[in-house]
Amino acid sequence: MKCPYCQQSETKVVDSRLLKEGLSVRRRRKCEACEKRFTTYETIEISMPNIVKLDGRREPYNREKIYSGIEKACQKRPISTDQLERIVENIEKSIVDVSAKEVKTQDIGNIVMMYLRNLDPVAYIRFASVYRKFQDVEEFVNDIKHDEESFSSTMRDA
Ligand SMILES: [Zn+2]
Repeated sequence: MKCPYCQQSETKVVDSRLLKEGLSVRRRRKCEACEKRFTTYETIEISMPNIVKLDGRREPYNREKIYSGIEKACQKRPISTDQLERIVENIEKSIVDVSAKEVKTQDIGNIVMMYLRNLDPVAYIRFASVYRKFQDVEEFVNDIKHDEESFSSTMRDA
């Protein structure tokens, strides 16, 4: 790592501190030439798999979606933003552990439910009911698309 003051490449790490449960490291460095100090951050870059939806469509992993789903389930429960962040981090670790390049949306739902069950019973029940309903809605929508013609002719006949 080059010194930002004198561009000299001999710098020494004088202090390292783990941040965010070991996912990033903050290092204090000292330049051997000019003796100035500076800080660097190292963060693990995790590449998340694609998500395969119930109907077979694929989409990139979206942290926001998972976070907001869990946030909704945890509304008015004694759960801090830190706990929410940590649970999403753990869920991401589990997703990376179980999958190669793709992961099914149902598998993610199951992982989220597993963590919520341990965190808070009310949040778990809320998420589970919404999640199951959502799954049904998607299936329901697919059925309508599939039977669209017979559906509209039924409507005409009625
Ligand atoms: Zn320097």
